[in-house]
Amino acid sequence: MNECLPLDRSSKMREIAEVFLKLSSRSASPFFSDKLFYWTMTPTPYEALPLAEPLQRVLRELQYTTPSPIQEQAIPLLLQGRDLLGCAQTGTGKTASFALPILHAFHERPRSTRGKCCRTLILAPTRELAIQIGKSFSTYGKYVKFNQTMVYGGVGQNPQIQAMRSGVDLLVATPGRLLDLIDQKQIDLSQVEFFVLDEVDRMLDMGFLRDVKRIVSMLPQKRQSLFFSATLAPSIVDLATSILQQPAHVSIAPQSTTAENITHKVCFISRDDKKPLLEQLLREQATVTGQSLTIVFSRTKHGANKLAKHLCIAGFPAEAIHGNKSQAQREKALERFKKGLAPVLVATDVAARGVDVKAVGLVVNFDLPNEPEAYVHRIGRTARAGAEGRAVSFCSEDELEYLREIEKTIKMPIEGWEDHSWHSKEVALAHEAAKSRRTPLSTKPKGNPRSGNSNQRHRGRR
Ligand code: AMP
Repeated sequence: MNECLPLDRSSKMREIAEVFLKLSSRSASPFFSDKLFYWTMTPTPYEALPLAEPLQRVLRELQYTTPSPIQEQAIPLLLQGRDLLGCAQTGTGKTASFALPILHAFHERPRSTRGKCCRTLILAPTRELAIQIGKSFSTYGKYVKFNQTMVYGGVGQNPQIQAMRSGVDLLVATPGRLLDLIDQKQIDLSQVEFFVLDEVDRMLDMGFLRDVKRIVSMLPQKRQSLFFSATLAPSIVDLATSILQQPAHVSIAPQSTTAENITHKVCFISRDDKKPLLEQLLREQATVTGQSLTIVFSRTKHGANKLAKHLCIAGFPAEAIHGNKSQAQREKALERFKKGLAPVLVATDVAARGVDVKAVGLVVNFDLPNEPEAYVHRIGRTARAGAEGRAVSFCSEDELEYLREIEKTIKMPIEGWEDHSWHSKEVALAHEAAKSRRTPLSTKPKGNPRSGNSNQRHRGRR
C-alpha cells in the first residue's frame, strides 16, 4: 500500500517486539502485549502458507515475513473456498488477507472473462477506499497475470464503461455507480466467483443497505463471499447472514475497540481556543521523525475548507479533502500530503476513509464525530501496520454528548489531557457531572450538525 516514507519493515517489527518485551516485563496490559507480540513474533512465516510462488516473491520483496493475525487466520480458510465473516479494524492488514487468496486463484485458475463481466467484485463504501484496494491488488499481484478496473462516482463514466467492455478479472466498485452502470447494461454480475464487501459498517452508515441488497440479488448463487466490518452491530450480522453460506468467523479486535497502539486523549476546551491548541500540536508533530504528518478531522465540508485555509495562513501547509472535491482534487491533495508537501490533511469522515499513510503520527479530532463509530475509524488513520500513533480529540461544551456516545461505543472513558494552556475546567467538570448524574446533559449540541439532538444523526454527504 502507499506509504509516505520508505521503511525497513523487518527492523521496525523487531523494534516493536523489543518495546513489547520491555513493556510486558513492566506489566503492560496482557491484551495489548499479546496482540503486538503475535504480529511481530508469531512463528508462522509467510512461506508456510500455501500461496503461489508469484505471491511469495512479492511478499519477500515487501519484506512481509510474518502474516498479521487476520492474514494468518483468514488466508488458509479462504484458500479452502470458505465464506468469511471478518471483524477487523483498520490497519490490521485485512486487505492482504483477501487480496492474496483471490490473486492466488487468478494465478492457479486463469480464465478468460466474458464482456462486461468480472470474476471478482469488491464493494467499498468510498472511492478512496476503492482506489486503495485497487492499488493493493496491483502491489500484491505484481507477478500475477490479471486485469482490474474501478468503478466509482465523481468522475466520467465513459472510461469505466470502456474498461468493462471486454470483461475484467477484478472490479472494485462503490455501490451507487456500480448500480448506475448495471442499469445501463454496461456491467453484468452473472459471472462473479468472489464477492468481497469491505467496511460494511461504513457502507450501512452511509445508507447503502438497499443498494448492497440489490447488488447481492444479481450475483450467482455459486460464489465465495467475504464480508469485512470493523464493528458487528446486529444489523450487520443480519446482513452477513443473508449473504454468507456457513461462513468461518475471524475476529481480530473486540467490537468497537480502538487500535491498541494508539494513545488517545481528550482535551476539554472552549470552541474559540481550538485553533491555537491545534497549532501548538502541529508545531510539535512537525518535529517527530518519520511520523510528522497529521490528519485533522472536521465534521463539515465547509469547516474543513475554512480550517485548511486558516492553517495555511498560519504557516502550516494544509490540504482539505471532502465530498465536494472532485476526484482529481482529492488525489492531488493526498499526493501532496503523502509527500509531506502539505503535512496537514483536513478531512471529513468519508473522504479520509481509505487513507493509509504510515507517516501519520497524529490524528486530531478538531470536531468530535456525531456518529460514535466514526471515532474508531478516524483514530485508526494513525498507528498503521504496527506503528505507534497519537490521537487528540477536542471537546467543547456543545460536544459533550458526542463524547459520551463515543465512550459508550468504545466501552471506556477517554483519558483527559489537561496539560496545555487552553484546558477548560468548566467543560471538564460538566463532563464529570453529567457522567455521575447519568441523566441527559443540560448542554445539548447546537446547530446543524450540532442540531439539538445527537440521536438525529447527520447523514448528509461529507
Ligand atoms: P490494511 O489494514 O489492509 O489497510 O493494512 C495496513 C497496513 O499494513 C498497510 O500499509 C500494509 O501495507 C501493511 N501490512 C499488511 N500486511 C502486512 C504484513 N504481513 N507485514 C507488514 N506490513 C503489512
